[in-house]
Amino acid sequence: MSTIDEVKSRIDIVDLVSEAGVKLRKAGRNYTGFCPFHSNTKTPAFVVWPETGTWRCFGQCNEGGDVFKFVMKKEGWDFKEALQHLAQRAGVELQEYTPQQEAQKELYDSLRALLEEAVLYYRNHLLNTPDVLNYLREKRGLTDATIETFGLGYAPPGWDNALKHFTERGYSEQDLFDAGLLSERDLGGYYDRFRHRIMIPIRDERGRMAGFGARIVEPEDLPKFLNSPETPIFSKGNLLYGLDRARKSIRAADQAVIVEGYLDVIAVHQAGYENVVSPMGTALTEDQLRLLKHFTRKIVLALDPDTAGQKAILRGLDAARQAMDSSAPVFDQGGDRLFDAPSLMRFSSQLQANINVAALPDELDPDEIVQRNPDEWVQLISSAKPIVIHVMDELMAERDINDPKVKSDVAAELIPLIESISNAIERDDYRQRLARKLQIDERVLIPLSASS
Ligand SMILES: [Zn+2]
Repeated sequence: MSTIDEVKSRIDIVDLVSEAGVKLRKAGRNYTGFCPFHSNTKTPAFVVWPETGTWRCFGQCNEGGDVFKFVMKKEGWDFKEALQHLAQRAGVELQEYTPQQEAQKELYDSLRALLEEAVLYYRNHLLNTPDVLNYLREKRGLTDATIETFGLGYAPPGWDNALKHFTERGYSEQDLFDAGLLSERDLGGYYDRFRHRIMIPIRDERGRMAGFGARIVEPEDLPKFLNSPETPIFSKGNLLYGLDRARKSIRAADQAVIVEGYLDVIAVHQAGYENVVSPMGTALTEDQLRLLKHFTRKIVLALDPDTAGQKAILRGLDAARQAMDSSAPVFDQGGDRLFDAPSLMRFSSQLQANINVAALPDELDPDEIVQRNPDEWVQLISSAKPIVIHVMDELMAERDINDPKVKSDVAAELIPLIESISNAIERDDYRQRLARKLQIDERVLIPLSASS
């Protein structure tokens, strides 16, 4: 028997579901109750079959599965976490690690433990630095509870505060360097990487410490954001800020919203919308989208107005067109960073994810919008548009669409993007929309597309 089957055989699904707060009633050989995954139900549409160890909701969710699927959905866990939890409950020992894996795990655990101490260290400095604390409270509108929940801190000015603090506690300079807290001098020796900055702990999707994002306090300091360097446990391209706190909500809402900054994530969570994450101050990566896909396939990009993200989404159109003209493979180049429309389209079809764009109004960042009116956030997100439509609107904004030259330019920019869509019906629909917006006959758009 496999470990998974053994765990299944030892877990009583009726107990498991009951302990999760579902009142079950026996109905013949099965049990029924109210579904824990959707609200406002009037009928007990949730059925548990003890003999097969399975469940199903015949109501709104129309979902079902085994004990693993149940705890994954209930707790927002991935399969590995569900297995660990249920194996422990069932008293089934999971397979041992190899010595290499053991050593690696030990290194990771020690780095994480050091970073947890660093969270406390920076937090302590924040509580003793009223100027910075007041900046977070007054300028960023964060409550003390939020500051505490997200573990915000402050790195004091000076070159060796953290270095002294942690070496006095028995850590070596090498430990601190490996954890990303120190930088190396050209001529040897180390100094504090983070100085006079607001410290934002970055955790992986399971809540384990990975590194820090650090934001300036003085407007003139540079760079505005400074992350931990790449370490064995911190890799910018593989982490999404806030995912540990957002995952449950992402799964429940079946939607993830991506914003551009850490403090935006925090502010929007504070406003009660917890399905929000951000990349690490750089463009999205394929790995980050794959990570999100564990929780949902519906993604909304809420990009700040007039920022790198907004501009980047239009970038790549030229490259796409050139690639098409020269009949080279379309959209295959461009590295692994994305935000630009062609790459986003490519990944959304590869991952079968549905990516929409919400353009934020009035030059406001997400944190300013939720401060102005939290309801507005919901409206903005629900009115997010498919990438092609977003790009269409952006290209036509503030241009004289009655000018034949402008029509021709816009069509030339958009056609390669539309032709890259693999679904023929969608492709056709976008072509029709474009024709309508440009007030031209749709047929003239077809010859523009080289290979269809
Ligand atoms: Zn349900």
